[in-house]
This record gives sequence, structure tokens and C-alpha cells, in this order.
Amino acid sequence: MKRGIIILFSLILLNSCDNYTNSLDLVSIEDMKRVTKDLSSDHFSGRMPFTEGEQLSVKYLASELKSIGFEPAFDGSYFQDVPMLMVTSSVNGDVHFNVKGKKIALKAPDQIAINSPQAMERVALNSSKLVFAGFGIDSEEWDWNDYDGVDLKGKTLVVMINDPGLYTNDPSLFKGREMTYYGRWTYKYEEAARKGADAILIIHETEGAGYDFNVPRGSSITPRFFIDDNGLTKRCLVNGWLSLESATKIFGELGYNIDSLRRHSSKRGFKPFELDAYFTVDISNSIVRDSSINVAGILNGETKPEEAVVITAHWDHFGIGEPQNGDSIYNGAVDNGTTMAWATEIGRMFKKSGVRPDRSIIILFPTAEEQGLIGSDYYAQNPVIPMSNTIACLNNDMMVPRGTMNDLTMIGFGYSTLDSLYESVAASQGRYLLPDPNSHTGLFFRSDHFPFYKRGVPSIWAYGCYDSREFGKEWAKESWDDFIANVYHRPADNYNPEWDWRGVAEDVAIAYDVVKELVKIDGFRPKMK
Ligand SMILES: [Zn+2]
Repeated sequence: MKRGIIILFSLILLNSCDNYTNSLDLVSIEDMKRVTKDLSSDHFSGRMPFTEGEQLSVKYLASELKSIGFEPAFDGSYFQDVPMLMVTSSVNGDVHFNVKGKKIALKAPDQIAINSPQAMERVALNSSKLVFAGFGIDSEEWDWNDYDGVDLKGKTLVVMINDPGLYTNDPSLFKGREMTYYGRWTYKYEEAARKGADAILIIHETEGAGYDFNVPRGSSITPRFFIDDNGLTKRCLVNGWLSLESATKIFGELGYNIDSLRRHSSKRGFKPFELDAYFTVDISNSIVRDSSINVAGILNGETKPEEAVVITAHWDHFGIGEPQNGDSIYNGAVDNGTTMAWATEIGRMFKKSGVRPDRSIIILFPTAEEQGLIGSDYYAQNPVIPMSNTIACLNNDMMVPRGTMNDLTMIGFGYSTLDSLYESVAASQGRYLLPDPNSHTGLFFRSDHFPFYKRGVPSIWAYGCYDSREFGKEWAKESWDDFIANVYHRPADNYNPEWDWRGVAEDVAIAYDVVKELVKIDGFRPKMK
């Protein structure tokens, strides 16, 4: 009798501690709704770094971390100061091009999205010579150099977005349609600075960029953020994008057609060339030096606390900006309210289940993701646990609650062996892995796992997106495309009480199971591919 009671008791205890047959039972949709609704309410005024909205956001997240039993990650604090430089550019008058002696004036930001990333109050270029350098790629890895034989000092570089693989559909060129890092505007800006150019202008094209011109247009008139490293990181004097119409006008005057120029640039052996065109611009910058804040909590491992899995979801968005349809608050409910809810929910499940991890778990809410992964980059340079002991980074971004999905879309499929772990966990929900069907837009390089990946940490962004259980693939794709076209980075990104959270709940359950496996001492150890 006594014995029986003891056995029964230990079974119950075991059950309440670990053996949840279905992790989904641990997920609270109500908690996720609350976190999302709160953080994307007008009270947080769009969660812009350096504003009251930042203070409110980081305090809210710290108290969530505390409530789920995660301790302060940074020497007794939930907060890590991120020294930042905020530069807001305004273009004085029109931007001028002198093309074969003919003047072409462009209006910023509608025809040219342009800013200066320098901590200088006034930046002016006077008749800077244009050089066309294909896709602006110099890569040993792909044996490709768009800069061969040109001197860019004091000149303005003009390049195409994306990489040659996309436009040729040739799988042997770069990664075919899948974007490589060389296709990203961030890489092109970095490379232009390394080559000593004064300015870089990227020719916009919607498919290659992954978004319409409204996105670079919008970000050129909002403040730009950088890690304040006293000029250690080189940047051009002027960075920007030409709309396709503007580029067509300028190159047309020179006798070039943009489409054929793009085809020509996609061929091996392309050589850069100078143009009979000169660029004049005058920019005033307002400069603020301040600190923003990364928020993180840690659940210390029992046996190997010096190793960790990091879960990331950026807290920042765009604050209050240009009104659209009478709304000026960029609430960022999907980007990234729902995902902060996803991250906190994973932690809350550990609290509910009582599972004690062998390795540590860090939940990190980086700042200034929207401004170029600043917070996550700073964390990766100044981590709680060294990158060499960070065994994986699981990130998420922009989860649109649209019901359950058959797919688990993997942004970063093929980059590490995390794929196989996700495959088996997703199968437990009857789901399959889907490599990002929009990999040509380079999403893998556009969120907070990337600074981890760059430093050798297996990293992934995984969520159900393209195959609705209820409404099928076509509907899922259409609703996602609709989000990107009409809601993404717009004031329309608001909390919606009608959302169907069951799919996000399943994604949370998958992430929880993956983390549980990764933090086991004898669990799955992912490797880079
Ligand atoms: Zn985001």
C-alpha cells in the first residue's frame, strides 16, 4: 500500500516535471496575446530606440523574463547598454546628376532614397564620377570580382541589387535563385566602403530586393543607427538607392537599358566601367550619441551552465513616423510583437514544466534590429556566454497568426545540421520542413540570428508560413504576400484580436522541444554546414 502510493506519487511528479507527451499543452495562447497586445499598443508608441517607448518596452520585457523565472543575464541586470550613434539625414534641395552634360534633378526620397551614415553635420559631394560595377561583388569564394581594374577613390559606385544567380536562373552561378550574402545591400555598402568609394547607389528592383521601393524610401528618412565604435567601421560618405525609374532615366541618357545591363553584369568576365555622369548632393545630418538597450534573461544550466542556447526576438520597431491612412504609429504587432510573445512563451514553458536544462538558455531581445541588426551584432561582440560556447541561435521575426500550418519554413535551411533536428520535431506535429521559397530575398541575412551565424553559431529562423492546414497553400501564400505588401513596416501593422494563434502555438511547441533537446548534455549538437 505504502509502496504503491510512493510509486504513484513519483509518477505524478515525473509527469509534472518532464514527460509532457505533447508540449502544445504547455502553451498559453492567452499569455501570447497579452504580450503582443501590450507591446504593440499605442502606449509603447512604436518601440523606437532612444524614446520613451524604449524605456517602456525594455522594462516590460524584463518583468516578463522575471515572471518566467529567467534571471538577469548581464551581471545582475536584464539590460545591456549598446552605445549607438543615431544619424538622421535630410537632403538639401534636389539631388543632381550631370549626364553627358545634361542635368537630371531627382527628388529625395521619392526618386532617390539617400542618406549619410557619417557622424558629420554636413556631407556634400560635388560632381562625383559614377562608376558602374555590376553587382558590386568581390568574392574569392565564388571567384567573382566586379571591381577588377577600377579605382573608386572619390567616386560614386552604382550597382545592381541581389546577385547574378537570381537573374540568370543558373544554379551554378552563386546559389542560383537563392540569395547569397553578396546579394544583400548591407554587403554592398560594406564592400563599397572597403573599396574606398565616396558613395554607393543601388539600383532598386522589387524581386531582387524582396520589397518595393517604399522600403528603402521609408528607411532613408527615418533615423539610421550604428554601433558607436568611434569610426572603427568604415562607411561611405553617402549611401542610397535609385528607384528603377530614376536609374532608367540616367542610364537611358547614356544609351544603356537597365535589363540588358543586368544581363551583361550577370555574365562571368563582366568588367566595371566609368560613366560620363556625375553626382552632386548636399546632406545635413542631425547626430545623437546615446545608448540603447538589449534585454536578456538566463536560465542557468544545471551541469554545463557555461554553454548556452540563445533565443532571439528583437524588441524595436519604427516609432512614430510618416502617417499612412491617418495612422502615424508604427506599432509593429507582427514585427515583432507576436515573436516576442513566442520567445517569452518558450521560457514560460520551461517554468511550467519544471524541466531544468543541463546547458543554459538565454532569451535575448536585441535592440535596433530594424536599423541593421545593431543590438544582436553588439551582443555577439559582447556576449554573456562566448560565441564558441553558444551552441545554437533560434531566432524568429514577423509571425503572422493565421491558424495552423503544415509547413515549417526554415530560413537558413542548408546552413547547419539544425535542419535534421527540426525535421524530426516537426514530424511529431505531422509537419514538413520547407526551405524558404523566397530565399532570393535573403531573409537569412536580415534578422538577429545572422550576427551569430557570422561567428560560427548554427542559427535558424523557423515558422509555419506557406501551407495552411485549413485553407491550403495558395491562400497561405496570398495572405503572406498581402502582409508584406500592405502591412510590413507600415502603421497598419497593428494587433488584431481576430488572429488565430493556434499555428504560432505549434511553432512555440516545436521551438520548446528543439531547445529541450539542445540543452541536454547528451542531446543533439548542431554543426555548421
Ligand atoms: Zn523584424
